[in-house]
Amino acid sequence: MQGSVKPFPRFPAKISTAFYEGEGDMLLEVNGTKRHDFNNRFEADGMLFEEPVPNLFSFNNPFGACPTCEGFSQVLGIDDDLVIPDKRLSVYDGAVAPWKGEKMDWWRQNFIKGAKKFNFPVHKPIADLTDKQITQLWKGAEGVMGIDDFFKDVESQLYKVQYRVMLSRYRGRTECPDCEGYRLRKEALYVQVNKKHIGEVCEWPVKDLKKWFDELDQKLSEHDKAIAKRILSEIQHRLQTLLSVGLGYLTMNRLANSLSGGESQRIQLTRSLGSNLTSSLYILDEPSIGLHSRDTANLIKVLKELRDLGNTVVVVEHDEMMMREADHIIDMGPLASHLGGEVVAEGDYDEIVSNPASLTGKYLDHVLTIDPPKQVRKWTRSVTVEGARQHNLKNITVEFPLNVLCVVSGVSGSGKTTLVRQILYPALRKLKGEFGDKTGFHKAITGDVEEIAQIEMVDQNPIGKSSRSNPVTYIKAYDEIRDLYADQPLSKMRGFMPKHFSFNVDGGRCDTCKGEGEQVVEMQFLADVHLTCEACGGKKFKEEVLEVKYQDKNIYDVLEMSVDEALDFFRFEKSIVKAIQPLSDVGLGYVKLGQSSGTLSGGEAQRVKLASFLGKGKSAGKIMFIFDEPTTGLHFHDIQKLLTSFQALIEQGHSVLVIEHNTDVIRSADWVIDLGPEAGDGGRFIGVCR
Ligand SMILES: [Zn+2]
Ligand SMILES: [Zn+2]
Repeated sequence: MQGSVKPFPRFPAKISTAFYEGEGDMLLEVNGTKRHDFNNRFEADGMLFEEPVPNLFSFNNPFGACPTCEGFSQVLGIDDDLVIPDKRLSVYDGAVAPWKGEKMDWWRQNFIKGAKKFNFPVHKPIADLTDKQITQLWKGAEGVMGIDDFFKDVESQLYKVQYRVMLSRYRGRTECPDCEGYRLRKEALYVQVNKKHIGEVCEWPVKDLKKWFDELDQKLSEHDKAIAKRILSEIQHRLQTLLSVGLGYLTMNRLANSLSGGESQRIQLTRSLGSNLTSSLYILDEPSIGLHSRDTANLIKVLKELRDLGNTVVVVEHDEMMMREADHIIDMGPLASHLGGEVVAEGDYDEIVSNPASLTGKYLDHVLTIDPPKQVRKWTRSVTVEGARQHNLKNITVEFPLNVLCVVSGVSGSGKTTLVRQILYPALRKLKGEFGDKTGFHKAITGDVEEIAQIEMVDQNPIGKSSRSNPVTYIKAYDEIRDLYADQPLSKMRGFMPKHFSFNVDGGRCDTCKGEGEQVVEMQFLADVHLTCEACGGKKFKEEVLEVKYQDKNIYDVLEMSVDEALDFFRFEKSIVKAIQPLSDVGLGYVKLGQSSGTLSGGEAQRVKLASFLGKGKSAGKIMFIFDEPTTGLHFHDIQKLLTSFQALIEQGHSVLVIEHNTDVIRSADWVIDLGPEAGDGGRFIGVCR
């Protein structure tokens, strides 16, 4: 009510009466001429809306999740990779697989005929079409039927067997048609801020999002600004922290499992940094994992800000730059595992470097360095990924040489992981007839694919879930040890066979703990509690089995030996030495033979896998090994050993492809593929060198 109209007394009360009597509706007639309709519901254009509450915007909550895909963003539908398997072909040449054959060719011809109406280039390879043209091909345009119409037609005739067979051939996980992959029910997407809904906003990288929020601040009225003040400053603070740790290129909707190890580490870091507490103790375990040296510098800046706010920051780390910048270093050692456990040196960077006891100091001071091999290998054969266009990759073509040590480098977010893990690896596996994850967008894989018999991604996942799995069983060396124990005179007398020395089958193992050596008590909501088995005292075997000895040691004693101790102990048993030698070669000489796999770090698990391949020798056929940041968690000393085992694999005829930014590894490479230049904007192929 403005201007000349005088407010009625008790006007608000009358309105609520009107709403009550009208069951939510109220009409207002002004001077018998103008009529206004009001209601007290969230309603417009005849649609009823949900009152916005936080849960409405969460796809993890049943209230907000899209009911069709239950918030997963994908449903079982037509898989475009199966429909257009070869993106080098044009529509004219038969790129659309189901439009082949005498009967279905009508669809192809029909589309080609109609395509003139909207200037669709029917002779252009699919990989070179614009996004708009790809949509036209699928959805059709100007009355011309597209691939979607084709499948609608197929679905309407499913009573025919051949149509059912055809449909099943093209089914796979696809974007949800109702939420278009935004994961939220449509009511949530009706709610907009500055003309954008939450799904659209989440598609932008952090740095664009920050800009958008900065601009939003200018646009808000004083009233709205006051309401949003608290929330906006929280958002701004968090976005700023993500930028500072070098994650400005990430979009909010990137799936956690598509992030590299370093990226997810730093997101966790952002969470604790976001709280901005003072007088707190922050403990960070190798935060520089997966970071290019430039990003590490940014990270160090953030850590120093935390310190300057009055906090204490403790970092477990062996990154050289991090050590240089530290105020105080505690150097543990002297070597790993049972050869470690002591404080070797303490002090600032200069004190560590000048301390003769510190192995770390010697590396930092470059007294000990990792020398690259003198000879760079030449290569003749290769495989090529053509036209890669997934995530950050900007339609690049990259040639990967075979039978050499090839390193893919670049700042984090430059697309290394996408190129290798989401395109090259799954695409090669598909070519070898294996099934795996969906392959990222690319035109084709060409080159000497037949030169590779097998593709192995040697990751940092645990080597086995049960606490019975351990390095020596994983590399199959335990069989030799069991044979040796079954051969001892006491075993013969008691009728023990190799299986009595197994903790995987009944017979010789402790009946109470089934050879685990411990019992696990499950605690609801808390970490499980591990208790030493009372029956065997953690020795895993029955007393009569433990009485069998070789050189005065029983089977339990052997499992307690480190790899290097065992090499010495079994020096007269050639087959055992041969079987466990690879573990020492990959730098795991300090690991106990029977060490439960659960206690191995990711890097250690990765090297156990590597050792198992080294043990197989040339018999395994030519393998392409892919390693994603294998130096993660490794000390200089161990990087040297890892590099040596890479060289051994290549000597056996295999190819080694490593995603890495550790400079020692890059210097040792025969061939380097550098992606960049900038994270996120990168995805350009910078070049090869060496
Ligand atoms: Zn959906
Ligand atoms: Zn037991």
